[in-house]
Amino acid sequence: MTLPEMKSKVMEEAQVRTQKRLAEGVYRLELSAPEHARHALPGQFVQVQVKSPGVFLRRPLGLAEADTESGSVALIYREVGKGTAALAALRPGEQVNLLGPLGQGFRMDVQHPLLVGGGMGLSPLLCYAQHLWRHGAQPEVLMGGRTAAELFWQDLFAPYAAAIHLTTDDGSLGRQGFVTALLPELLAEGGYDSVAACGPEIMMRGVAKVAQEQGLPCEVSLERRMGCGLGACLSCAIDTAHGRRKVCKDGPVFPAEEVFC
Ligand SMILES: Cc1cc2nc3c(=O)[nH]c(=O)nc-3n(C[C@H](O)[C@H](O)[C@H](O)COP(=O)(O)OP(=O)(O)OC[C@H]3O[C@@H](n4cnc5c(N)ncnc54)[C@H](O)[C@@H]3O)c2cc1C
Repeated sequence: MTLPEMKSKVMEEAQVRTQKRLAEGVYRLELSAPEHARHALPGQFVQVQVKSPGVFLRRPLGLAEADTESGSVALIYREVGKGTAALAALRPGEQVNLLGPLGQGFRMDVQHPLLVGGGMGLSPLLCYAQHLWRHGAQPEVLMGGRTAAELFWQDLFAPYAAAIHLTTDDGSLGRQGFVTALLPELLAEGGYDSVAACGPEIMMRGVAKVAQEQGLPCEVSLERRMGCGLGACLSCAIDTAHGRRKVCKDGPVFPAEEVFC
C-alpha cells in the first residue's frame, strides 16, 4: 500500500466491481476509480451522480475504503430514497460518475485513537482505521447499534483495529446502552491519544463531552444536506466558534470544540 500522493479532486467515470448487500437495506459498492483511490484521505467524501428520473443533484457519500494498489474505492450506504435506490440497482460493469475526493478529513498524526461510531457513521471511520493501520498506528473502535444485527461492521473493522468495543441498546451484543455507557471507562483506562466520532449528532455531542472531560482532542464528522459539495451553494453552512463554515468544504470533519460550542 502506497501513501496518498496529494490532495486533489477529479471527476471520474468509475466502473462497478462488486455490489454486496451487507444487511437489510445496506450495501457495499466497490468501484474501480484509480484517481480517487490515489488522492483519497480518510474522512473525505464523493459526490455521486445518480442516473434516476427526478434525481438532479449528486448525492454525497463518505469514502469507506480506498486502495491505491487495486485502484478501487468502496462506498457503504443505506438505501433511503431515490438516489440510493438507483445506486443499489447498479451491477458489475456499469458506470457511475464520481466527483471528489471532497472536504477535509481526519487528522493522521495520531497513534492510538479511539474511533467511535454509530449507524452509517461507521463508514468514514472504516477508511480512517484502514489508513491508520497501514501507517502503523493502533486504532481501537467503539461501535454502537440498536441490536446485534446492526453491528455487522465488526467483520469489516477487524483487520484494521487493535480492539473493538461494542454496545447495543437492547443488550443483545456487548455492553447494554449507548456508546456513552462504555466511553468514560474506556477513555480513563485505554491510554488513547485522541477520539474521532461519526454518527448521529446527539451521539457525537455526548462523545465530545466525555473526551473533553478526559482532556483528549476530539474530531467529529458532520452530515448536512448539501447541494454542490464544493462550497459554492452554501446550503450546508453552519455556525461555529470561528464564524460561518461550510460542512462540504471546511468539513465534514471538524474539531469538536469548534462546532459543539
Ligand atoms: C458528507 C456526507 C457523507 C455521507 N456519507 C454517507 C455514507 O457513507 N453512507 C450513507 O448511507 N449515507 C451517507 N450520507 C447521507 C447520504 O448523502 C443520503 O442518505 C443520500 O444523499 C440520500 O439520497 P436519496 O436520493 O437516496 O434520498 P432522498 O430522496 O434525497 O432523501 C430520502 C430521505 O433521506 C434524508 N436525507 C437525505 N440526505 C440526507 C442528509 N445528508 N442528511 C440527513 N438526511 C438526509 C431525506 O431528508 C429523506 O428523509 C452522507 C451525507 C453527507 C453530507
